[in-house]
Amino acid sequence: MRRVSIFGSTGSIGANTVALLREHAREHEVVALTGGRNVALLAEQARALQAQIAVTADAERLPELRAALAGSGIAAAGGRTALLEAADRPADWIMSAIVGAAGLEPGFRALRHGGTLALANKESLVAAGPLLLAEAARHGATILPVDSEHSAVFQALVGERLDTVERVIITASGGPFRDWPAERLAHATVAQAMAHPNWDMGARISIDSASLFNKALELIETREFFGIAPDRIEVLVHPQSIVHALVGFNDGALMAHLGPADMRHAIGYALNWPLRRSTPVERLDLARIARLDFTAPDPERFPALRLAHEVMQLRGTSGAAFNAAKETALDAFIDGRIGFTQMAQLVERTLFGLDADGALRATPQSLEDVRATDHLARAKAEEFIGTPERDGVALRNEQG
Ligand code: NDP
Repeated sequence: MRRVSIFGSTGSIGANTVALLREHAREHEVVALTGGRNVALLAEQARALQAQIAVTADAERLPELRAALAGSGIAAAGGRTALLEAADRPADWIMSAIVGAAGLEPGFRALRHGGTLALANKESLVAAGPLLLAEAARHGATILPVDSEHSAVFQALVGERLDTVERVIITASGGPFRDWPAERLAHATVAQAMAHPNWDMGARISIDSASLFNKALELIETREFFGIAPDRIEVLVHPQSIVHALVGFNDGALMAHLGPADMRHAIGYALNWPLRRSTPVERLDLARIARLDFTAPDPERFPALRLAHEVMQLRGTSGAAFNAAKETALDAFIDGRIGFTQMAQLVERTLFGLDADGALRATPQSLEDVRATDHLARAKAEEFIGTPERDGVALRNEQG
């Protein structure tokens, strides 16, 4: 019996993980499931998997969770402290699938058990990559990537030596605005940004895919996880989302990973690693798909990728600042306070503002340093949202 916990079980990745676990329920002892606002689904999942404890990060929803679990014998808890305590419960395999910087600390704490951390929460590596990897090494824990591109790179590297890798290419669908002209992008709405052409994902990552901020996070994630130099990591726009990543070796070979746009593949790979096991995803019919297209991304319309390269050069705490500014910009876009293209402007202003203040270049020594930068970047970004036009960067709502 393997002890398993899922952080963010009520989300898109979390629910897919629950579905895969239910197929082999007798092999797993479910320790903790955590969610946020969706306590009805959390309770249902906890009952179905007979979890020891269900935790809602939203303390106000604890009475509702308790009521939904009444008579089940499953413990219920609520709030941030309870969430972190759930990470302290020993488990052998932990899925980190909370969205945003909120997912960093639970995953970090779970590494202390020395088991496997299946990492969907890419923000953890962006904000605190070196700290996270060092913590895993300290406790003999294994981190497995769940992001589809990184799972693809990981799979292409099985049996290979990292010093023979010349380059890594991660693909991007290009999102719903792939072919939109720049003028139209400024007026893109939240609903349009959420309508991802290929993947069914949570709302926030869907919007990040439309702006290519998701790909920007993934560039940094590739750099941190695999230790590949930034100038050896490329992004290719590939509208079909069939090839997820390619690894180029020093003999000229390119190893590509192909699969359906279904996260159950990458989750299942992390669940069954180092073995493979039959997973209920569509089998590709390449004759029907017939063609695979690749183009270079447009840095003018999608500046997020350029910003990611700035972060990879700066290092220090710039990843934490980048992610926090991006999350603040995303909230402001969702709330209608800024327009779609202003998200990148806001992140850029925040990064360069903080760097000018000398706040980004020191290497973080602890999660406390990462948290401090995160708070600083959110405050700075909010301050810029409140500032009308300055330095040629207008931050007013251009939507509609
Ligand atoms: P969702 O928005 O669908 O789910 C997020 C989960 O986190 C939910 O369980 C949510 O609870 C919970 N949550 C939200 N805010 C908090 C908080 N402050 N504290 C604790 N829990 C919280 O996200 P996704 O499943 O799409 O993504 C999860 C992570 O995986 C992200 O980091 C994303 O970038 C990454 N990822 C996702 C992919 C996908 O296909 N979806 C692909 C690759 C990576 P509730 O819903 O109950 O409020």
